[in-house]
Amino acid sequence: MNQSNDQTKTVCAEFILLAVVVTLATTALALWFFKPFGETVMIRGVGFAAGISVASALPYLAYLAFRVSSLYADNDGLMRAALTDRLTGALNRQGFDRRFRSHLRSLLGQSDKGLMLLIVDADHFKRINDRLGHPVGDVALKKIAGTLKRLTRESDAVGRLGGEEFVISLPCSNVDQGEMVAERLRAAINRLYVGSGTKGAQLSVSIGGVFMRSPQPFARVYEAADANLYRAKEGGRNRCTITAITTHGHGRLRGIDGLPAAAAPLAR
Ligand code: GH3
Ligand code: MG
Ligand code: MG
Repeated sequence: MNQSNDQTKTVCAEFILLAVVVTLATTALALWFFKPFGETVMIRGVGFAAGISVASALPYLAYLAFRVSSLYADNDGLMRAALTDRLTGALNRQGFDRRFRSHLRSLLGQSDKGLMLLIVDADHFKRINDRLGHPVGDVALKKIAGTLKRLTRESDAVGRLGGEEFVISLPCSNVDQGEMVAERLRAAINRLYVGSGTKGAQLSVSIGGVFMRSPQPFARVYEAADANLYRAKEGGRNRCTITAITTHGHGRLRGIDGLPAAAAPLAR
């Protein structure tokens, strides 16, 4: 919204500059044209030409400001839609990628900052679809996405890369902070319920995460987080498995759940 306001202001400023140039040119032309008719006619002629230029610019400016601001607002809406998953309102792959890159950039030269990538995968989702139907499965995905967004900050990024799997890019200062958020998300989703009575199901997710202090390629971080997700599933589901790269990241990962680190490919 602010960006579209700024763009509208820029277009209006350009128009005002153009109107000033046109007014000056019209005034000069009127001066040349009316000079032979004497001073009184010349002053009236020049005043008339300049006055008409300024007066006609004002409604044009108002119209332009209105139209341009609504076009930019439409453009913002289209941009948001292009970067959003239609079912859940989470970011789609492209939207998430943008935000993740900007989170990575903010790590540069900031040794006290860190970034956590979480993969959140719904447990036994196929069973929910099979037992309660695909529409109820869709409701479950919306509820999961809603909870993920509600319990994270505006500056975090929640995306749906496909199916029943969400990703979260979470700037945080240390691995424990990120793990606390992951655990809070897991517990909140485990309180969700879809359907009703015997035709209902309690939801749960497994979370695999990786914490980093220096920028890493998404594919590598994702691979490591996915390996941790696999371990969370193997460990019984409805749990978080998170590892971290040490500050200077020579490929040594610290397993914070007491298990050996699973993500060696993160070595730089
Ligand atoms: P696990 O605990 O190991 O992750 O098991 P799972 O059943 O969740 O995993 P699996 O990959 O076997 O099944 C994923 C299911 O998610 C199958 C697919 O039909 C369903 N699914 C994917 N996208 C959507 C969607 O947009 N809506 C609904 N309702 N279901 C979806
Ligand atoms: Mg699943
Ligand atoms: Mg899955």
